[in-house]
Amino acid sequence: MNILTVEDDPNIASFLHRGLSAEGHSVTVATNAKDARRWVTTLGTDLDLILLDLGLPDENGKDVLRSLRAAGVTTPVIVLTAQDGLNDKVAGLDAGANDYITKPFAFDELLARIRAVRRSIGQASSNELVVGDLTLDLLTKLAQRGGRQIELAPREWVMLELFMRHPNQVLSRSQILSNVWNYSFEPGSNVVDVYVGYLRRKVNLPGLPPLIQTIRGAGYRLTPT
Ligand code: CA
Repeated sequence: MNILTVEDDPNIASFLHRGLSAEGHSVTVATNAKDARRWVTTLGTDLDLILLDLGLPDENGKDVLRSLRAAGVTTPVIVLTAQDGLNDKVAGLDAGANDYITKPFAFDELLARIRAVRRSIGQASSNELVVGDLTLDLLTKLAQRGGRQIELAPREWVMLELFMRHPNQVLSRSQILSNVWNYSFEPGSNVVDVYVGYLRRKVNLPGLPPLIQTIRGAGYRLTPT
């Protein structure tokens, strides 16, 4: 998932960034309300979740949330708050939050809340992506092809999700890099090719038609068989 964390405490921001990245998420960090608004605009519908601190240096998180909702932004929001008073929670939910979590929190609890928000949002769509004989369960992160289970490392899983959300579409190295690693393109870096190589060895199973193809000079494409 593409997650925007809005948190001015550098320790918490870095804890969230490391933890969520290790879970395979793409994490963007904003440390104030101004940057948060800018990222919400830049990422648009690519953004899957916002983790929003209420006590920001330039503005109250509740006001940020209220204005985003008023502007039609429907991205799920989990409010992170040090204030555990009932009024803050109610106000956060009233302002348009999907859930809240009180600091300090256990990382596992945050992950559980993220899954819960995702389930409640994603009921209409399925938790499973299917392209040809390949399936990816978005909750368990397990992939299967032709009934055979494929073990994926977090980056591989994020990359496969990207390919499966854009079947038949050629994805350039810079698109893959910015979606999977959240970096802008560094000329000369071959990290994308290396990881596509790993993924391809797992997905292009012997005896089955290859799903991931190299398009010379353009990038890579997942084509259902
Ligand atoms: Ca704060």
